[in-house]
Amino acid sequence: MEKKVRVRFAPSPTGPLHIGGVRTALYNYLFAKQNDGNMILRIEDTDSQRFVSGAEDYINESLKWLGIKIDEGVREGGNYGPYKQSERKDIYRQHVKQLLDNGKAYIAFDTPEELENARNQIKNFQYDSSTRMSMRNSLSLPADEVKKLIDNGVKYVVRFKIEPGREVEVNDLLRGKVVIKSDILDDKVLYKSSDDLPTYHLANIVDDHLMEISHVIRGEEWLPSAPLHVLLYEAFGWQDTMPQFVHLPLLLKPDGKGKLSKRDGDRLGFPVFPLEWTDPKSGEISSGYRESGYLPDAVINFLALLGWNPGDDTELMNIDQLIERFSFDRCSKAGAKFDFEKGKWFNHKYLTEKSDVEIADLFIPVLKNKGIDVEKLDKYYIEKVVGLVKGRINFVKDLWDNSYFFFEFPDSYDEKAVKKRWSAEMPGILNELIEILEKFDDFNDPNIEPTVLGWIEQKGYHLGNVMNAFRLTVVGECKGPHMFDITALLGKEETIKRIRKGIENISLDA
Ligand code: GLU
Repeated sequence: MEKKVRVRFAPSPTGPLHIGGVRTALYNYLFAKQNDGNMILRIEDTDSQRFVSGAEDYINESLKWLGIKIDEGVREGGNYGPYKQSERKDIYRQHVKQLLDNGKAYIAFDTPEELENARNQIKNFQYDSSTRMSMRNSLSLPADEVKKLIDNGVKYVVRFKIEPGREVEVNDLLRGKVVIKSDILDDKVLYKSSDDLPTYHLANIVDDHLMEISHVIRGEEWLPSAPLHVLLYEAFGWQDTMPQFVHLPLLLKPDGKGKLSKRDGDRLGFPVFPLEWTDPKSGEISSGYRESGYLPDAVINFLALLGWNPGDDTELMNIDQLIERFSFDRCSKAGAKFDFEKGKWFNHKYLTEKSDVEIADLFIPVLKNKGIDVEKLDKYYIEKVVGLVKGRINFVKDLWDNSYFFFEFPDSYDEKAVKKRWSAEMPGILNELIEILEKFDDFNDPNIEPTVLGWIEQKGYHLGNVMNAFRLTVVGECKGPHMFDITALLGKEETIKRIRKGIENISLDA
């Protein structure tokens, strides 16, 4: 029988989850769901120095917002817990002991100064088989001295004893077989007595085994730790349950080379975090996709295609379609350029797919924020406005710029347009227009448009100037949807009032 698919997303709560981390979580999720597997969220908080409060909640909230569902985790529970590494100290202690007992690891007492000295004295110093006997550890010191040091409470670390001359094979689904010589690896610190905590290396690997992880799917930056994974599994005798590695390509800057960073986002104006984040120390605020008006489905679709493609030119895929079509065969190992313009395009697509009613619901808080008394408005009116302008927007907040004139009387008139379109005859012409419009009671009457256009033609007026002057009085600028759609929604009284006001105000300024 095939092994049950069990994958884990294993962030360290050292700050807000980066969008690259979200992509890693997403690929884990897609793969798990496609294979009826389980998605585990493991909090890797063994580095007490780098712990940031609020980061764990941030991770949970981000995944929830995006619809990446966790099967086992701190909040969800499960049979392999605890899912937070700081609550698994006993487990790590036992495993450290096991390695020490089997001679696979040793205790080292070197102080930071001693290590610094060694680095200064030996070129390219590395703590390994070539140097360890000249350092202060349980391999180089007599047993009674080691015991004395420990009994006296001297701080120590436990290091993994890497045997030289080995070729370590890492099998990666995207990169194939990678062979690394054990000589280039150092004797990694696995545990520190100072805080009685394992390092990332030990905890991450022990937990992958104990949680029966079948596939380790993570960012490319973790590839260098894969040989240690292999060697530690071996040292514990777990080689038969070695997970399959998948190291995902980096997300690259939208322009130029190199890894996508927060600075790129600041420089080019897009978020690199799923949710807004306030740094607990500096108070600095970083923008988030959610607060910037992105829809979670759009973000998911956009991220899914950064490193994977479905093999044809399909771009719009909801989460179920992604689960069905996702495969590592179509993942690239080359970095994926972070094309944030494409992200906006996805948002536009997902937004305009929503019904006018749904978009109106999202728009109402924006209107309230702008001081519009929404209670006084007919909901249907807002929906109609949405229907007229939604084709032009990428975000809900853009609705305002494209439709404020449906909610407010124009308080100024675009100067350039006035210069271009207004003339001494215009008030007279617009008064004629008012007379024509007065004849219609229902501004939804389809005859209004041909009647107005017919009048312009018959009088030999300049079509562009008259229609734009008309628009200026009603909208304040020469923009917006089709003129007669606007007047149909505003209605007779409001339209004529605006033309009158426009004639008065613009003539004064012009
Ligand atoms: N805790 C590591 C991180 O912060 C996990 C790396 C891995 O997935 O093995 O990303």
